[in-house]
Amino acid sequence: TKGIAALPLPQPVKVQEVRHTKIFIDNEWHTSSSGRTFPTFNPATGHKICDVEEADKEDVDRAVKAAKAAEQRGSPWRRMDASSRGRLLHKLADLMERDRLLLATLETLDTGKPFLQSFFIDLDGSIKTLRYYAGWADKIHGRSLPVDESFMCFTKHEPVGVCGAIIPWNFPLLMFMWKMAPALSCGNTVVIKPAEQTPLTALHVGALIKEAGFPPGVVNILPGFGPTAGAAIASHMDVDKVAFTGSTEVGQLIKEASAKSNLKRVTLELGGKNPCIVFADCDSGCGGDPERSFLQPGVENVKKIVIGDPMDPQTSHGPQISQQHFDKIMDLIESGKEEGARLEYGGAAVGENRLFIQPTIFSGVKDQMRIAKEEIFGPVQCIFSFKRQQEAIERANRSQYGLVSAIFTRSMDRALSVSAALETGTVWINCYNALHAQTPFGGYKMSGNGRELGEYALAEYSEVKAVTIKLSETL
Ligand code: NAD
Repeated sequence: TKGIAALPLPQPVKVQEVRHTKIFIDNEWHTSSSGRTFPTFNPATGHKICDVEEADKEDVDRAVKAAKAAEQRGSPWRRMDASSRGRLLHKLADLMERDRLLLATLETLDTGKPFLQSFFIDLDGSIKTLRYYAGWADKIHGRSLPVDESFMCFTKHEPVGVCGAIIPWNFPLLMFMWKMAPALSCGNTVVIKPAEQTPLTALHVGALIKEAGFPPGVVNILPGFGPTAGAAIASHMDVDKVAFTGSTEVGQLIKEASAKSNLKRVTLELGGKNPCIVFADCDSGCGGDPERSFLQPGVENVKKIVIGDPMDPQTSHGPQISQQHFDKIMDLIESGKEEGARLEYGGAAVGENRLFIQPTIFSGVKDQMRIAKEEIFGPVQCIFSFKRQQEAIERANRSQYGLVSAIFTRSMDRALSVSAALETGTVWINCYNALHAQTPFGGYKMSGNGRELGEYALAEYSEVKAVTIKLSETL
């Protein structure tokens, strides 16, 4: 570790011009059918980075056609050995490692998240996700079953077909990999729409998909807006599955579109109001952004956060993604002040006409306040105090959401009992934001359906075929 500490920090690269701004279908770059483009902005400066081709329904139709042709029986992709699919995923991971500085720079440019986070969290997670599912490609298999009477039965796991992916702006590259890697590992093809605020890293990956040697049509990338391109994917009759990450409201629209079109399979990763329960015996603080911290009296949660230029390695806190999101967070902060929560830290914008918000901590938060109930999705932590363990559990569970929870305590006995009682898809004990490619992630209740990552995600991208054979005799 001494050696690692001595290594120089990675530095962003200079981006003179963004190379990939078009629609990626059939391994080729296309202009939009409508002739429209849209700008993408650097949220740290407000400056336009570049214009991107705007995909709409017609482009989605073309992409789905390409993806469907690529997954037909007899196609190069369907005939490819499973082990070769794995090698292609490894090749893509190699190329992302080669371009890691550029991808991390593009991610920071487009999202405003600190460069070192892009480099060490987003890129690391993306590459590891690809390698994890590369390893699975030739290990996805069915079972033989001890059925009654003179029959033999075995199952086969087959690809679902064309898999749509619709993703948000907070982890543009990572969310793409969480969906694409298991989909390709299982032999599916992909049509993905990145968030309109952050299309750039996904488009760069298009170039790497081609360079790695994936057959045309296996991955298609459509920058565009939700109600147009996104809705066209969700309601398409030839899309067999859609994986969505974003708000609960849009998640409901996706399910509705599936129901009204072809009943495509749907997995959803939605909002959260993640509780973090800190017991008095705990001496460590919690990093990350839990929305609701339940503290026993005597515990303090202190953060040292540097706000600034996200390209600067010293910076640990960047701007919000857009004016709209900034306004939503500031409105909730104001509601906290008005409804009588005690502002312990922050609570204001930084600079004028900028999208930076101070990390904000409210204490004395009551369950009925807006900041206690509504998802803020910004740098605002609400501290609730509690006296009894049962009270903390009940209040933590009193939410329509059930994405993630965290427990901080020295007692593993207590941590395990409390973790069993929390209604969330993930429980972190003495840690926060601990995500791994091997560990399933997803929500209870209105935080979503299905699981991403780990072996569990493979089931979301496979059909199970049961083959039953009549035997002439039982020996
Ligand atoms: P959003 O739901 O508005 O947008 C997400 C994606 O859906 C974007 O690509 C958008 O273009 C698309 N979209 C919007 N309307 C659509 C429609 N009618 N049909 C199809 N697609 C449509 O969410 P957002 O504001 O961009 O992202 C923030 C939300 O995402 C938060 O609520 C957050 O909790 C959630 N989120 C959840 C997870 C998770 O893992 N559960 C991770 C990241 C973000």
